[in-house]
Amino acid sequence: LVDITEREQVGQIRRDFVANVSHELKTPLTALLGFIETLKGPARNDAPARDRFLTIMEREAERMNRLVRDLLSLSRVEAEERMRPEDRVDVAALVESSVLTLRPMAADAKVALTVSGASAPVWVRGDADQLVQVFTNLIENAIKYGGSGGRVEVMLETSARELAFRGPGVRIDVVDHGEGFDPVHIPRLTERFYRVDSHRSREMGGTGLGLAIVKHIVNRHRGRFRIESTPREGSRFSIMLPAS
Ligand code: ADP
Repeated sequence: LVDITEREQVGQIRRDFVANVSHELKTPLTALLGFIETLKGPARNDAPARDRFLTIMEREAERMNRLVRDLLSLSRVEAEERMRPEDRVDVAALVESSVLTLRPMAADAKVALTVSGASAPVWVRGDADQLVQVFTNLIENAIKYGGSGGRVEVMLETSARELAFRGPGVRIDVVDHGEGFDPVHIPRLTERFYRVDSHRSREMGGTGLGLAIVKHIVNRHRGRFRIESTPREGSRFSIMLPAS
């Protein structure tokens, strides 16, 4: 009985997912088709309108591109979730390089992006590309949604006895001082396509898949993922990984 119920739930989750993906793809596609129609007809000889429409079309195509990229990432990390990463990687260096990549985005948003505790190597068994994806997703979110607080802090701390693993571990915190959100959202935040404010997410070009990807990668690394937030004060996203 339990088995059948579980299978029905999995079926429902899959149907919801397909419905969500179709909806997310259909929105930009409908916009693109609409603008193509207009460009072929009424706007054919209107140069300023044509430029405006092309800019919107580019944005919509980029949105579809990000969505497909994140869907591929998600399906890859889900498929690999049970395969433990074997490489020894320096998380401190990966945190530093993620921060470096996002400096221009922070500067554009007028956010001071600081990093602490990452000057000496910290070794874990991990997949370097996937860990970079975790850190960049969290830092990007902190800039996008928490940027109004003016600063984002990335902190790395090692512990000889990380409680979550009863052994040596490393914790990476990404902290912002922006708008935060009601903690009731926390349990659902890592679900695919779950957003606190969908209008805001879309405006920011979000796909709604970032935190789902983070969760699967952290699971694959036998890590822990913790979210805390206080409305109007900011949020803290923490990753704990066992040290090697
Ligand atoms: P998205 O592509 O929409 O950013 P994510 O999975 O990365 O998707 O995040 C899910 C939702 O969590 C976001 O839409 C946003 O509502 C919320 N969120 C994520 N990070 C933060 C943050 N630092 N501050 C406030 N809200 C956040």
